[in-house]
Amino acid sequence: MNAEIIAVGTELLLGQIVNTNAKFLSEQLAEIGVNVYYHTVVGDNPTRLEQAIQHAEDRADLIIFTGGLGPTKDDLTKETIARHIGKSLVLDDDAMQTINAYFQKTGRTMTENNKKQALVLEGSKVLPNEHGMAPGMFLHNKTHSYMLLPGPPHEMQPMFRKYGRIAIMDQLESRERIESRVLRYFGIGESQLEVEIEDILDSQTNPTVAPLAGDNEVTLRITARHHSESEAQKMIDVMEKKVNDRVGKYFYGYDETSIMKELLKVLEEKKLTIACAESLTGGLFQAEMTSIVGVSTMLIGGIVCYSNGAKIKLCNVKKETIDAFGVVSKECAIELAENVRSILGTSIGISFTGVAGPDSLEGHPAGTVWIGISFDNKPSKAFLLNLAGSRNGNQKRSVMYGCHYLL
Ligand code: ATP
Ligand code: MG
Repeated sequence: MNAEIIAVGTELLLGQIVNTNAKFLSEQLAEIGVNVYYHTVVGDNPTRLEQAIQHAEDRADLIIFTGGLGPTKDDLTKETIARHIGKSLVLDDDAMQTINAYFQKTGRTMTENNKKQALVLEGSKVLPNEHGMAPGMFLHNKTHSYMLLPGPPHEMQPMFRKYGRIAIMDQLESRERIESRVLRYFGIGESQLEVEIEDILDSQTNPTVAPLAGDNEVTLRITARHHSESEAQKMIDVMEKKVNDRVGKYFYGYDETSIMKELLKVLEEKKLTIACAESLTGGLFQAEMTSIVGVSTMLIGGIVCYSNGAKIKLCNVKKETIDAFGVVSKECAIELAENVRSILGTSIGISFTGVAGPDSLEGHPAGTVWIGISFDNKPSKAFLLNLAGSRNGNQKRSVMYGCHYLL
């Protein structure tokens, strides 16, 4: 099934509002495996709206309209569609009740034009509006399906989530199950990930694989269609393995997780404790960690040692180390990690030292970061980053890299 979204409203064409409805609906439709091939925007003009419907019918199976369902004169969407497909508009009792109840509750008198909102396309499935008055509609007519949704996002989004999505899924060929899984990656850019799996992306049909760049990370959504849910899950498993055979070293978790949450899961499983010495991240690693519930058995504490003096006084870094190598150094990172670990008696010590920016430090450019890790009786390690973000961006990325290296 492929779809076209037609947003109706002159304000959209005048640039007064942004077409966020198309963005929302496209994301929702991708999740249920419906391909959106076109977004159209048309003003509150019946002639041009009818032309847009005609075009859409030539190239889409499902046409979703938003806007123009309200009571005013410029709200013409359903009248125009009704005329175009030769259906009449009939009064829907439930919708009329909703409108009456609204006026009773607010103590206002209903004007005649408000009744217009209770008219629906004959034979359509009515989509209740739980946040406004105008109901939505879904109609399958001969070769095409039409869905009509209100313009205001706070009415349209819950209506689509609760009623619209299901109506479309029921319509999908032979009621296939649609299952999807999100894979999360850190440490690889979107373009590099796409290059690594280009042939898979190019040849995908079922399951489909869709990349999405997020905040400092990349995600892939695998969506499979099958009559049986377990078969769809198996298809996703196979595709996941195929993808992760190539980029698995950057993979950290599924669906609604974060790299910090995944780190905490591992620490909990292995009964490990952690202490942290933070210079350029100024406590951000611990702030992020403590924002997650149940961290107290794992995070013992830490030290924010921003100045050289604090590194020496609070974290026992040797002055000679700083004199010889500077604070933006592997040696300093390792000493910080080892010392904070021994001061607090934890299984892991981690440290962050470097140049957040925008100015350089000790001759190192902004974004130069050393992360030190001390663990068990293994030799301590330090990792060098060369980041290119803003000051805050570099701090956030450093924290995520810290989690990445610990994992
Ligand atoms: P109402 O009953 O509020 O008149 P309606 O279904 O007739 O709803 P419109 O009159 O077209 O919808 O739009 C109402 C408001 O909804 C707009 O002023 C705008 O704030 C919002 N809106 C409409 N279309 C969109 C869109 N495509 N994207 C984001 N917001 C929109
Ligand atoms: Mg309106």
